[in-house]
Amino acid sequence: MNGTAGTVGTRAERAVLGGLGGARGELLELYRDLHRHPEPGMREHRTAGKAAEALRAAGLDVVAGIGGTGVVGVLANGDGPVVMARADMDALPVRERTGLPYASTVTVTGDDGVGQPMMHACGHDMHVACLVGCARLLSGARDEWRGTFLALFQPSEENGEGADAMIADGLTSRVPHPDVVLAQHVLPYPAGYVGTRAGSFLSAADSLRITVHGRGGHGSMPQATVDPVVLAAMIVVRLQTVVSRETAMTTPAAVTVGSLHAGTGPNVIPDRAVLEVNVRSYDESSRTRVLAAIERMVRAECAASGSPREPEFERLFALPPTVNDEAVTRRVAEAFAAHFGPDAHTAELQSASEDMSRIPEAFGVPFTYWGIGGTDPGLYARAAAAGTVAEDVPVNHSPHFAPVPEPTLDTGVRALTVATLAWLGTASA
Ligand code: ZN
Ligand code: ZN
Repeated sequence: MNGTAGTVGTRAERAVLGGLGGARGELLELYRDLHRHPEPGMREHRTAGKAAEALRAAGLDVVAGIGGTGVVGVLANGDGPVVMARADMDALPVRERTGLPYASTVTVTGDDGVGQPMMHACGHDMHVACLVGCARLLSGARDEWRGTFLALFQPSEENGEGADAMIADGLTSRVPHPDVVLAQHVLPYPAGYVGTRAGSFLSAADSLRITVHGRGGHGSMPQATVDPVVLAAMIVVRLQTVVSRETAMTTPAAVTVGSLHAGTGPNVIPDRAVLEVNVRSYDESSRTRVLAAIERMVRAECAASGSPREPEFERLFALPPTVNDEAVTRRVAEAFAAHFGPDAHTAELQSASEDMSRIPEAFGVPFTYWGIGGTDPGLYARAAAAGTVAEDVPVNHSPHFAPVPEPTLDTGVRALTVATLAWLGTASA
């Protein structure tokens, strides 16, 4: 790991990060505690309480209960820029298989009354610990910077509803207005890695339910029917051409028909078919174009089959693309390059999706979102040498995914702090 405080980076970075040695033990303990106690989206009461408690102990003002369990810590330190950093808090319905001494054994009861094992399988526990650490270090060295730091802890990222819940509950009028929003996510790269990317970074995710109508009847008299099974089959095949024939090679996109249901038996032609479709894209224009192409093809296939009713389109799930602001990303990337040296990288495009961008969008301000590695560097190096990274390195949402506490925590705290000081650290000069 590069970037040892006292050798590189700005004076403000060295002074603020000088507090990391004294805070590290408690932050690691907080991380392990959160890992042991995962909570589902919109039910992160304990996690939010821990974050709020740590923020108050560090001297921040705390606004809690925004959109359910959302928390914002406010560290006002004179005139200057206002920087918001965001972490997500929710865990996943996964049974942990890491074998770690602090592994989760938690089971929660779902809305259906059924018990469900829970796990922090996406590193949100690490995000919380890193953001608490950054707030604590900034608070401990207030002479080194001017402005306001906002530490935002968001519920329910995995369900794509937490950012919207905070915004609907008045987030933008309950905390100071930021000039910029920063966020990070643990990814399956070697711990120590930080990766920024200007422009498109994470995909948009859209899920649709499409109902197409036929005219039911006897399997022996197809002439009296409109067969929705054949219609749905045509649609499945036709939709394969949205990406292969209508999308440029340089514009990644994916269209997947994940479910198709019709009929009850061999000699009954049903009266409808239901398809569920997932769409991934990297910017609003290709997203709009792909969704429009799907609708056009479905309507045209229905017309071709003589469908007696227009198809119905229901949006099940929609997450925006995460498109990083060019200028903000450049500023953060330059600060990372100076601080982290060869561990600072340009990140690859990621196929996952996020609701984080809704927060800066609600404030009308730019953002950048970067990745930090969480995989044991030795494990990663062995897998890379053997050509087995895909098989041997657990990815987010795997029951084996758990960032190594160090150096992941160190890197995450440093990255948030260095990026924040790229705005605040120059304000005291
Ligand atoms: Zn996730
Ligand atoms: Zn996540």
